[in-house]
Amino acid sequence: MYDIEKIRGCFPILGEKIYNKPLVYLDNGATTQKPQCVIDSITDIYTHYNSNVHRGVHHLSNICTDKAEEARRKVAQYINAQSDTEIIFTRGTTESINLLAFSFGESFCCQGDEIIISEMEHHANIVPWQMLCERKGMRLRVAPINDKGELIVDEMFNLINHRTKLIALTHISNVMGSVNPIEQVIRKAHSEAIPVMIDAAQSIPHQKIDVQALDCDFLVFSGHKMYAPNGVGALYGKGDWLNRMIPYHGGGEMIDKVTFERTTYNVLPFKFEAGTPDYVAVIGLGTAIDFINSIGIENIENHEHTLVDYCIEQLSKIDGIRFIGEADKHAGAVSFLVGNVHPYDTGMILDKMGIAVRTGHHCAQPLMDRFGISGTVRASFGMYNTKSEIDKLAEGVERVKMMFG
Ligand code: PMP
Repeated sequence: MYDIEKIRGCFPILGEKIYNKPLVYLDNGATTQKPQCVIDSITDIYTHYNSNVHRGVHHLSNICTDKAEEARRKVAQYINAQSDTEIIFTRGTTESINLLAFSFGESFCCQGDEIIISEMEHHANIVPWQMLCERKGMRLRVAPINDKGELIVDEMFNLINHRTKLIALTHISNVMGSVNPIEQVIRKAHSEAIPVMIDAAQSIPHQKIDVQALDCDFLVFSGHKMYAPNGVGALYGKGDWLNRMIPYHGGGEMIDKVTFERTTYNVLPFKFEAGTPDYVAVIGLGTAIDFINSIGIENIENHEHTLVDYCIEQLSKIDGIRFIGEADKHAGAVSFLVGNVHPYDTGMILDKMGIAVRTGHHCAQPLMDRFGISGTVRASFGMYNTKSEIDKLAEGVERVKMMFG
């Protein structure tokens, strides 16, 4: 049984009052709240064993290093990577994609080559590729979506040619919650010997990810969207690709031997981890994974599916609601507009009722352009949300309608 009250009890912030009303936190796509065990793990480190990792011979440094490397093993197991050396810790999805765009781009791409993305990407999966294209004289190709907010897979496949170097695709749209058929895309890309990067920022907290079953070449995500501290995320890459890529940042830790004439690089994963990592957040990510595992990601997925369906059902009853994104496969988030009311106004009124939603372009301006809108209101869900919170959202939307006639 999914013990929602017990789960909610693990998140102290859910007891907060906003304008003297209970917090209804529906902005999980932006960041999730942290369970007490994750908060405690941070205090525990600073209280008992803080010390820089991979450096010292002393006791504290060894404890910290062991815990950080244990977290790497937990991440590897969580996504079923073949080896923990395939997990590169970064600051998050954005840094992971920038790393890949630089290191993959410098290692394998030439003038005239092409990268394929989709029309529903977050800016983090657009701009680094644009920067690579500008640097190298390459071309960014964009696969379109249909009016329901679904990737038009055939059109993506039509873009593939002998200059295609990589497909970089989001698993789940952060705006619309559309779930992309990544298995199909990976299969097709591999039949043409093209590697695929999956942006799992919006899928990793919601469903089981198995990189070996998917056979994706790279996968990126952020810890803060999966109940872990801010400042940590990962780039998963198949060892064969990562070994052949040049490093991203230079500095301590990523080296084997340095002379003024020449530097040789460390082995994976350290080759891509220059400088002191946020090892406190790394260890906290390990704790967050233990917490998710203790509930079961499949149970979380089922619970959240019920919430998404219920949210769509309840909002559909309200006259004048327009959904942005009505994909058949839908998870994590629901985006909508209330008549002609500006999303910001809707967000402000909901806020006064203690309801936290996201408004605006959600770092997906090209997607907004596709729908001819400036923004949406987005409710996005986490393991601790309830149907009664969605009822409050629906009530709030009714109030917005009343206030704006
Ligand atoms: N990709 C997607 C699909 C996202 O939803 C986000 C965060 N909203 C990002 C990338 C960027 O993540 P971060 O800001 O944690 O680096």
